[in-house]
Amino acid sequence: MSDRYQSLIHTPIGQLLAKNLGLPNPVRLDRWTEGAPLVDGTVLVGTTPAGRLGKVVVETLDGLGVAAVDAHEEGARYKGLVLDATGITSSADLVELERFFTPVLRSLESCARIVVLGTPPESTNSAGERVAQRALEGFTRSLGKEVGRGGTVQLVYVTPAADGALASTLGFLLSPKSAYVSGQVVRVGSHDGTAAAEEPADAAKPLAGKVALVTGASRGIGEQIARVLHRDGATILGVDVPQAADDLQRVTGELGGGHLMLDITAKDAPQRIAKHVTDTYGGVDVVVHNAGITRDKKLANMKEDVFASVIAVNLTAPERITAELLKQKLVNANGRIIGVASIAGIAGNLGQTNYAASKAGVIGFVDSLADQLDKGITVNAVAPGFIETKMTAAVPFATREVGRRLNALSQGGQPVDVAETIAWYAHPGSTAVNGNVVRVCGQMMLGA
Ligand code: NAD
Repeated sequence: MSDRYQSLIHTPIGQLLAKNLGLPNPVRLDRWTEGAPLVDGTVLVGTTPAGRLGKVVVETLDGLGVAAVDAHEEGARYKGLVLDATGITSSADLVELERFFTPVLRSLESCARIVVLGTPPESTNSAGERVAQRALEGFTRSLGKEVGRGGTVQLVYVTPAADGALASTLGFLLSPKSAYVSGQVVRVGSHDGTAAAEEPADAAKPLAGKVALVTGASRGIGEQIARVLHRDGATILGVDVPQAADDLQRVTGELGGGHLMLDITAKDAPQRIAKHVTDTYGGVDVVVHNAGITRDKKLANMKEDVFASVIAVNLTAPERITAELLKQKLVNANGRIIGVASIAGIAGNLGQTNYAASKAGVIGFVDSLADQLDKGITVNAVAPGFIETKMTAAVPFATREVGRRLNALSQGGQPVDVAETIAWYAHPGSTAVNGNVVRVCGQMMLGA
C-alpha cells in the first residue's frame, strides 16, 4: 500500500514543512534492481591494530566486484564503510571506533552502509576482550540511529573459522538489498564448520538448479519471496490455501514454478508436501515458512479456537513440515530452512498474545534446530517490523502511522526487503550463517 505522508513530504512544500516543523523526513531508500552493481560507489575498509579481517575483507569485496579502498583520502565519498574491529581486545581500545568513524561520517553518500566486524564475545580469548567485543553492539545500534539519510549500520560477529565465509553476508549488508535492515547483530560461523559453503557458478543466479518451497506464496511477502528467489535462479514451489488458488497459480505460473493448494495445518499436510517434493523434484533446497495469520484480541476476550488457530498456522505447521522433510531426508545438502517471525514476537504487542507467542516460538524453532542440522543445512529467521502489505493496511490509521514512523528510517518496509533478507540466507555461500534472527524493521524502536 502507498505511504501518502512520504509522497507528500517529498514535494517542495512538504520539504519546507518538514524542515520548519521538524517532521519526520523519510529518505527514498535505494533498492537493488537486476543488473545494477551490487554497490554503486566505493567502500572504505578500516582495520583496528591487530585486526585479523581487514585484508580478507578487501579481497572478498574485490571478488564481489565492489570498489574498495583501505585509506581515506580527503574529498572522497563513500557508499559503504567496513571496520574490522576484531583488534579491539580491551575497553581502552574502543576509542578506535571513534578514530575510524568520526573523520569519515560526513563523507557518506545517501543510503550508505556501515558494517562493523567483531569476534563473538563467547569466542574471545580473555575477559577484557569479551567485554570490549560486547560493547560493539551498543556502538553499532546507536550509530544506526545517528547515521541518517537512509543509512544502515550492522555488527557482524565472525568466528575465526569462518573468516573466509563472508562474501554472501558482505554482499547483502553493503548493497541496497538490505535497505530496511539496520541495527542488527549477525553471527557468521555459528555452524558446525564441517560443511563448506558452495560458491555459485553464476553470481547473478546463485540459486540456479535449486528448488525453493514457499508457503503463503500467493500474495504479500510470500509472493515477493517467490519472485526474488526465482530472480536468483530457483525453481519455485508455492503453497497456499485452496481459497487462494487463483492468485497462487498466477504467481507461480508467471515464475514457471509449481504449486500445491493445501492448508498447512491439515493433519496430512507435511506428508502431502513431502510426497509432492519427492515425486516432482526429488528434494528441496530452500524451505521458507512464510504463511501466517493474525487473529487479534485481548487475552481477556480471546476464544480458545482463535488462539489455537494462530499457533497452528504460524508455529506448529512449520515445525511439523520441517520435521517430516528432515525425517524423509528431503532437504538437500547445503539446504536452507527459513522462518518468518515478527517484531511482535520480540517486543510483544497489545491484542497479540497468540500471534506474539507463535512468532517468539519461531525464534525458539531456530534455536532448537540450529545445532541439530548437518550436511551444511542451516536454519535462520527474519523478524519483519512494519511492512507495507494488506495485513498492515488493515491496521487502524493512528496505530499504522506509529508503526511506520517509529523506526530509524521513519517509514515502513516493502515486502521485497524481507524477501532480499531471505535470499541472503538462501544463498549457497551462506552456510556459515546459521541460527540467526535478523529483524527487517528499519531499526524499529519497539523491542530494540
Ligand atoms: P498475508 O496475509 O498477505 O499473506 C499470508 C499468506 O499465507 C496468504 O497467502 C495466506 O493465504 C497464506 N496462509 C494463511 N494461512 C494458511 C494456511 N493455513 N495454509 C497455507 N497458507 C496459508 O500476510 P503478509 O503480510 O504477506 O505476511 C507474511 C508473513 O510475514 C506472515 O508470517 C506474517 O506473520 C509475517 N509478518 C508480516 C508483517 C507485516 O508487516 N506485513 C510483519 C511481521 C511479520
